[in-house]
Amino acid sequence: MKNFNPADNIQDLQYFGEFGGVNPSISDSSTYTFLSAKTMFDTFEGNMEGCYLYSRHSSPSNLYLDKALAAMEGTESANVSASGMGAITPTLLQLCDSGDHIVSSRTIYGGTYAFLKNFTPRLGIKTTFVDITKLDIVEAAITSKTKVLYCETVSNPLLEVADIAGLAKIAKKHNLKLVVDNTFSPLSVSPATLGADIVIHSLTKYINGSSDTVGGVTCASQEFINDLKNVNSGASMLLGPTMDSLRSASVMKNLRTLHIRMKQHSHNAMYLAERFEKNGLKTVYPGLKSHPSHELYATMINPEYGFGGMMTLDVGTLAKANALMELMQAKNLGYLAVSLGFYKTLFSAPGTSTSSEIPMEEQIEMGLTDGLIRFSIGLDNDIERTYQMMKECMVELNILTAESIS
Ligand SMILES: *Cc1c(COP(=O)(O)O)cnc(C)c1O
Repeated sequence: MKNFNPADNIQDLQYFGEFGGVNPSISDSSTYTFLSAKTMFDTFEGNMEGCYLYSRHSSPSNLYLDKALAAMEGTESANVSASGMGAITPTLLQLCDSGDHIVSSRTIYGGTYAFLKNFTPRLGIKTTFVDITKLDIVEAAITSKTKVLYCETVSNPLLEVADIAGLAKIAKKHNLKLVVDNTFSPLSVSPATLGADIVIHSLTKYINGSSDTVGGVTCASQEFINDLKNVNSGASMLLGPTMDSLRSASVMKNLRTLHIRMKQHSHNAMYLAERFEKNGLKTVYPGLKSHPSHELYATMINPEYGFGGMMTLDVGTLAKANALMELMQAKNLGYLAVSLGFYKTLFSAPGTSTSSEIPMEEQIEMGLTDGLIRFSIGLDNDIERTYQMMKECMVELNILTAESIS
């Protein structure tokens, strides 16, 4: 699908407030009146388009955000939720019954990994974790019970890239649903246009972008979204991870500037990655030619939004990583914090934080080393100035020698 521009799709949506406001009115109600008892009955039976029932099911504010995110991902519909995990867990539970099997990338968000590794087995749902970059290994892990192929476009924290078109072919062949967590690469990658069936985001990260709320979304066919919200059997409706209307209205306003922010995040991350690699630091960034999936990723992205704002540097040891993060924070270069997509650079050592759910042996096997720092590069106005200041911190801590940077 050429000429698919997710930011234009969002921009073309127009919603007015009740009194002609430039933003839509916020629905400040948990329940809705019906003019007739018959309409209420029909709505419960799912027969009344455009009637609101109860806000756990949907609300006008949430539907505005649903529509915008569906337009962004090029899916028929979407359903926002109170967190990213509140989108991921009902989606997987809706797709799988007891006895079913999931093939998942082994390098995924720690919470998703813990859910698949520790929680879903209690319900009789088993998961095989694989190296998602090896399509033959992915296909070999599929059994007659497999229902779902699960991955992240760009994985957390190792920044491995999933070949979504290749995975979609495998999913189609074996009649599986390909579920893609696109949290790291909104606008840059549009997984549904590459063949993914369901696209998930943690809105907490880039899409909201101001680190003031959690939120999530599942983007999919109208049929699947209806299933999730079904009053009798829908995992989202029955487990109740509903986003509040006030929050969805504020996320919607932040979504309006996502395209500008993504360009700046990508520009800044590329700038730093190129320079730190030249300085001899082990740098992982999908925009670098040295990244194992650079060529593939270059064909997957909508180029104007770049290779994203996530980068990792390996500084050798955990002690050095910790000292560097503390020093950078003291110099106001960023914050030692988990999460991503903020205006400020955020950094953490994933082995001891966001990926600590993953057992040590498995961390080693997947290349998650002790000295690894994950950066979510911020919106810094003068990135050369930031680079110079970061470099000074590294020289002070003997991570870089004065010669290596001259
Ligand atoms: C943060 C994150 C999640 C979980 O989202 P929450 O909003 O914290 O529930 C899922 N996937 C990825 C890739 C994430 O970074």
